[in-house]
Amino acid sequence: MSGEEVLTRVLSLLPSKADIGESRFEAANVVIFSKNFDFFMNAHEVLREVAKEVKLRIEARADRSLLMPAEDAESEIRKIIKDAGVTDIFFDTYGSKVIIEVEKPSEVLGNGNNKITEIKKKTAWTPVIQRKPPLKSDIINTIRRIWTQNSKDRSNFLHGVGKRIYEDFKETEWTRVSFLGAAREVGRSSMLLQTNGSRVLMDCGINVANKDKAFPVLDAPEFQIERLDAVVISHSHLDHVGFTPFLYKYGFKGPVYMTPPSLPLAVLLSLDAMEIAHKDGGNAPYSSKEIEQMVLHTIPLPYEEVTNITPDVRLTLYNAGHILGSSIIHFHIGEGFYNLVYTGDMKYGPTKMHDSAVNKFPRVEAVMIESTYGSPRDLLPSLKDAQDSLVKEINEVIDNKGKILIPTAGVGRVQEVMLTVEEAVRNGTLPEIPIYIDGMVWDATAIYTTYPEYLRKNIRKLVFSNEENPLLNPLFKRVGGQKDRKSIVDADESSIIMATSGMLNGGPSVFYLSQLAPYEKNKLIFVTYQGRGTLGETVMHQPKDILINQRDRIPLNMKVVKAEGFSAHSDRKQLLSYLKNMEPRPGLIMPVHGDPAKLPEFASTIRNTLRMSTKIPNILDSIRLK
Ligand SMILES: [Zn+2]
Repeated sequence: MSGEEVLTRVLSLLPSKADIGESRFEAANVVIFSKNFDFFMNAHEVLREVAKEVKLRIEARADRSLLMPAEDAESEIRKIIKDAGVTDIFFDTYGSKVIIEVEKPSEVLGNGNNKITEIKKKTAWTPVIQRKPPLKSDIINTIRRIWTQNSKDRSNFLHGVGKRIYEDFKETEWTRVSFLGAAREVGRSSMLLQTNGSRVLMDCGINVANKDKAFPVLDAPEFQIERLDAVVISHSHLDHVGFTPFLYKYGFKGPVYMTPPSLPLAVLLSLDAMEIAHKDGGNAPYSSKEIEQMVLHTIPLPYEEVTNITPDVRLTLYNAGHILGSSIIHFHIGEGFYNLVYTGDMKYGPTKMHDSAVNKFPRVEAVMIESTYGSPRDLLPSLKDAQDSLVKEINEVIDNKGKILIPTAGVGRVQEVMLTVEEAVRNGTLPEIPIYIDGMVWDATAIYTTYPEYLRKNIRKLVFSNEENPLLNPLFKRVGGQKDRKSIVDADESSIIMATSGMLNGGPSVFYLSQLAPYEKNKLIFVTYQGRGTLGETVMHQPKDILINQRDRIPLNMKVVKAEGFSAHSDRKQLLSYLKNMEPRPGLIMPVHGDPAKLPEFASTIRNTLRMSTKIPNILDSIRLK
């Protein structure tokens, strides 16, 4: 059955009174626009039956002819839900939807509440309620505007995606995966899943630490962009998403799937990477135009929601415990033909922010597992020990009136470190000193506070109640620009500075380093992995002096320490127990995203202790799975 035939079949199953003006796909789902107001209001029962029959999700909305004019609808809506504190309203005319941002969603969505029905009844618009972020995020607003202003283009795009998904297809005969990046290396993650019916790219990252191997090998013969069906992003770190906008420069017109919080984080990090490239005098591989294209083509997919993405591939994302919105990618290929899991980066063990990575799936045959900390020497201290030692390191500097620089990626560990410091001040184990959060880290934190449902339960509760939200503690001070930075380093007081980038290869952390490095009383605390060839790696070896921005030689007298245990990655033990406890038990393990020197030993341990087969893919390898 073709896409058009699927729609015709849905329509044929509806009663004639449904009076459907238009029907179309929204990616894998069907939306019908009814001209009959009563049917629109009461379609639920009928649609449930039809959905069962055609095995598709179907939603009814009002035909445009029924919609109350936007202006009148807005004042009507503000009246109906005035207790919820409406802060913004966007009308998506083409989708007959209205996106309403409110301070108190529970006032609209709470139990026994019929406000949604009331809005539909009065205005015929279908409301989508969103919680106002406690910290303003320009990125989230921009994404919403891009979507609503291009409502028609986006609808057409989503309809096209649906038509492709439900294209005529016989059956899956083979499946294989090709490695375009992150094979025997850390960085530029990218793998291509192929079947006789589909081509899906998993991740499309860059390697910020290696100029020669910065991008995935997209000139591999099996990668034909015009035949690519979809891209699935595990999480928003640049080594997983950073090259995705380039695909749109190169002619890609298909969808990108990722979790809802991953999109604003990906936009934030890509914009930042572009800025850094320009500052370094280099050329970014894409512009903000391509980032906008990525936004227009992104289909947000929450955890554990199964969706068709091609005629023979079904996708589910699961919590990976790594950063906000990070996911483990599960592909169900064909009708029970094969099941592949790609872990992306993951943490098998609880952190302050996130639950442990999921390793229970309906079915799984093969696993591509990250192996950043795969060697026997990669055993991290417990989170508790890591927190205690960080507090101790900070206290030592405060006694000497020094400043602490924590270079960090904008997303992930830094929010973990923020929570640790905040708690230490609340417990009295650290004195109250200013904690400066530089630009990008602040923007990322704003996005964290917008998606509490993606955080661990106890933190989620605190973030939902704005009064106790630890990320909003006034201890944290936002750094606006260069002027602020100068006065922070000049001030005669102890402070903690958290700034990007984590490997000191660009960003404000390099400026702080250049100012703080000459003085013995200051301290640099590394909380993240230092890639080969980065300034961070050089500094870690504590030379007498360092070269900043390829021109200024500066004495390095500040103390340099590593606070281990904050890793958002699993350590060796966690990687192995992740596989050991996986349900069901997988047959083939392919370690990726690891140091080439460590991988063979890691793989042989998997074979010998877990009795699972392994293959360590090399770049450009293709492995037939079935
Ligand atoms: Zn990552």
